Amino acid sequence: MTTLSGSTTEIPFDELAGALRGEVITPGDPSYDEARAVYNAMIDKRPAVIARCRDTADVVTAVRFARDHRLEIAIRGGGHNAAGFGVWDGALVIDLSGMRSTTVDPEQHTVRVDPGCTWGDVDHATVAFGMATPSGFLASTGVAGLTLGGGIGYLSRRFGLTVDNLVAADVVLADGRFVTASETTHPDLFWALRGGGGNFGVVTSFTFRCHDIGEQGTIIGGPVLYDIADTAEVMRWYRELLPALPEELSGWLGLITIPPAAPFPEELWGRKACAIVWCYTGSHDRADEILEPIREFGSPLVVGLAPMPFTVLQSAFDALYPAGLQWYWRADFFQEISDEAIDVHLRYGATLPTGHSTMHLYPIDGAAARVPEGATAFAYRDGGWAGVIVGVDPDPANAGLISDWARSYWDELHPTSAGGAYVNFMMDEGSDRVRASYRGNYDRLARVKAVYDPDNTFHVNQNIRPAGAQS
Ligand SMILES: Cc1cc2nc3c(=O)[nH]c(=O)nc-3n(C[C@H](O)[C@H](O)[C@H](O)COP(=O)(O)OP(=O)(O)OC[C@H]3O[C@@H](n4cnc5c(N)ncnc54)[C@H](O)[C@@H]3O)c2cc1C
Repeated sequence: MTTLSGSTTEIPFDELAGALRGEVITPGDPSYDEARAVYNAMIDKRPAVIARCRDTADVVTAVRFARDHRLEIAIRGGGHNAAGFGVWDGALVIDLSGMRSTTVDPEQHTVRVDPGCTWGDVDHATVAFGMATPSGFLASTGVAGLTLGGGIGYLSRRFGLTVDNLVAADVVLADGRFVTASETTHPDLFWALRGGGGNFGVVTSFTFRCHDIGEQGTIIGGPVLYDIADTAEVMRWYRELLPALPEELSGWLGLITIPPAAPFPEELWGRKACAIVWCYTGSHDRADEILEPIREFGSPLVVGLAPMPFTVLQSAFDALYPAGLQWYWRADFFQEISDEAIDVHLRYGATLPTGHSTMHLYPIDGAAARVPEGATAFAYRDGGWAGVIVGVDPDPANAGLISDWARSYWDELHPTSAGGAYVNFMMDEGSDRVRASYRGNYDRLARVKAVYDPDNTFHVNQNIRPAGAQS
């Protein structure tokens, strides 16, 4: 095992263990394999040491220890990252999964969140007060990685991306200093954190703005499923309908295999379908009128729209996608769902290689699209969708099958895309793809990186190289 300094055998990990409140795990410890596992079981990295930090002081100590002993650093929040950047061969992993407190301020409409929280933790805390902050479409995803990449979810049409609702972040920098970034303190760092990923430091606390949703947190939502043969018709209707809908209503589209589980009717289990999962967060008085075009359209197999706590919709797919499956991702942004793209979706939707494999299109419109491209590091603000093709299966023997399907699908779909991809949906795809994903914001990100992390200490991520560094 090698590191920046060569071998790890001389490194005094017992000193690190003595200095931290949290646990320190090295190869040979009984919990090492469990501690190095991340959500995507295709990732098999062997870090030199895992520092399970309990508080900000532990993070400062871990960063300084890594610098002193020339260890690479990987940062783990929720461990969900597609490319598996929460762990790294030979690195010191700053594992934040033990830091999971939340503090809601119902009067100020804010929530302060520890860096190891999942969105399930945050929704649990805020929906009790009838409010939420925009996150994603799943509860088990980590707050830290999702936020730092942008954050696209059910509430984005109405309230913007997750980063548009970030009020402040506490950060441990590469030299061990601790700063708070906001519009008024370290504004350049704050700008970069809102989309620039884990490139700038270890965030130890996030403060988000919250919004009242539904009726005391009860929204109306759920899936509407159509036969896969209706995909072209559904996609054409959806691309026209969505921009005309009030922003209280959002819906993402997916090509799926109907899961063999309740609440889906048994006769539909295993059938391929085109799904739209809707979420209406407005006043229930207007729900019938607003949802009417959805109830009226086509010949759905299932209409699963119902009132439910927002937490229920957010966690609806968690059981279907537990940790430990094989995942291979490919992604792009799309300004439109063109007829050419629909032809590709028809072919690959009909050949989903396994029951878990899927393609999703998540809207980036409404409030998310009204934020100017240069206002935060997240660059693709001009409307459209973040698309993701994921080959997924429990069996490692199918890793090749799901990866080949996702790659071929992406190869054919990419020419219809806007060029770059959402960094949180990318594998380790190289610097040209990272640059394409930040468009005109890349050069400013590189300049901020040169100020806050000139040695590129935080490089286990979709890496932004410090301006002026040799490539
Ligand atoms: C099943 C699934 C569903 C998803 N759904 C959505 C969705 O609906 N919307 C959406 O926007 N995204 C979604 N994503 C993508 C998700 O945003 C990314 O996977 C994200 O990286 C997860 O964050 P994490 O903290 O769990 O990841 P980790 O693997 O822990 O970390 C991801 C990256 O962030 C960095 N990082 C983590 N914590 C910190 C920190 N505290 N400070 C600095 N850097 C840090 C890491 O270095 C790494 O580069 C989904 C992912 C999965 C697997």
